Amino acid sequence: PARTLVLVKPDGIARGLVGEVISRLEAKGLRLVAADLRTLTAEVAETHYAEHRERPFFASLVEFITSGPLMALVVEGPRAIEAFRALAGATDPVQAGPGTIRGDFALEVQNNIVHGSDSPESAAREIALFFPDLG
Ligand code: ATP
Repeated sequence: PARTLVLVKPDGIARGLVGEVISRLEAKGLRLVAADLRTLTAEVAETHYAEHRERPFFASLVEFITSGPLMALVVEGPRAIEAFRALAGATDPVQAGPGTIRGDFALEVQNNIVHGSDSPESAAREIALFFPDLG
């Protein structure tokens, strides 16, 4: 089955939403393969978000994602990448529908509670970055 990297970002940790996010993905039928609560270094954060390096919000995004602990999860299941992105909702929480994680719990585009890999290539890259020991 496919795998994806999910992050409960520092805003989600601060608001106590780890259980909510895990409940939703498990209820959907996805399965946890790995989980780790950690605070990212700027170096790992910049590597993770390398595609956004030239964007005006890059420095702010790195500051936010390193501001406190996050929960890194590897999640597995049929079409796990698309399945989790559907659970998360649109990047901008105001556009995200009710019933999605971002639609239900967030208002600001940067502080949008969760991350999910957006393609098989980024999932492979991100899982290797966060969990180098996973086969
Ligand atoms: P993620 O990659 O975290 O799942 P995404 O694929 O929905 O999110 P991207 O466009 O890849 O969204 O942006 C990555 C992250 O950068 C967003 O989740 C959000 O935290 C932040 N971000 C995106 N656009 C903006 C913006 N205009 N201003 C501030 N932060 C932003």
